[in-house]
Amino acid sequence: MRSIFAIAAATIAMTFSTCIAQPLLEPELRLNIFPNNPPRVALTFDACSGKTDERILQTLIDNKISATIFVTARWIKRNPQAIVELKANADLFEIENHGAKHVPVIDFPIKVFGLEAAGSPEAVRAEIEGGAKAIEAAFGIKPKWFRGATGLYSASAEKTIAEMDYKLAGYSVHGDGGASFSTRRTASTFGAAKNGDVIIAHINQPSKPAGAGVVEGILKLKANGFVFVKLQDAFERPTPQINICNRCADSAH
Ligand SMILES: [Zn+2]
Repeated sequence: MRSIFAIAAATIAMTFSTCIAQPLLEPELRLNIFPNNPPRVALTFDACSGKTDERILQTLIDNKISATIFVTARWIKRNPQAIVELKANADLFEIENHGAKHVPVIDFPIKVFGLEAAGSPEAVRAEIEGGAKAIEAAFGIKPKWFRGATGLYSASAEKTIAEMDYKLAGYSVHGDGGASFSTRRTASTFGAAKNGDVIIAHINQPSKPAGAGVVEGILKLKANGFVFVKLQDAFERPTPQINICNRCADSAH
């Protein structure tokens, strides 16, 4: 079924600190809800760098659960075996663009959650193009969705993403807190997801306890009758709600 999009007016949290030049934006994305259909969520996983969490990947494959995986060029280079597995299950996995070097897609100099941002419009474009090139080389497909490192953007970088014809992949649930949550907290966060949520978690941290919670949480959603959709099947032209990020004020330097 083709859906239309949850469109919501932007709500602005005015508690944002003035310590950085421009506010950073955190797009929120939700699926449309069809009351007579089974509840549905979109599982989205970031493969930022590092390795592959086979606990999560094998759970998805074994249970035939669809997901959208955002990969960087850096991760692609280091995980040839996982790429074979993803390609062997192409019906389950949508592969999308998480950038080249995993730098926040913000076009002025700033540090966010410990990561130096791209820092200029040219570097923003290079981050997006570099991710796409690596995906085309490894998977033979052209990504349509983009999510930058940290999920935070400057307003002008968001414009660039749209100009480059990408849909911006927000989310509505921080499933694993950047892989920092405990197993229990991750499982309960997944388990508390509501109809229409877009959950973000990480598939590149096999040594963290959060991954076990992701597995538990996915299986709980499945047992509760949730349907799992890929972003490509849920949206034609999403209009994410854009929230100003309050958390980033703490990390901005
Ligand atoms: Zn990432």
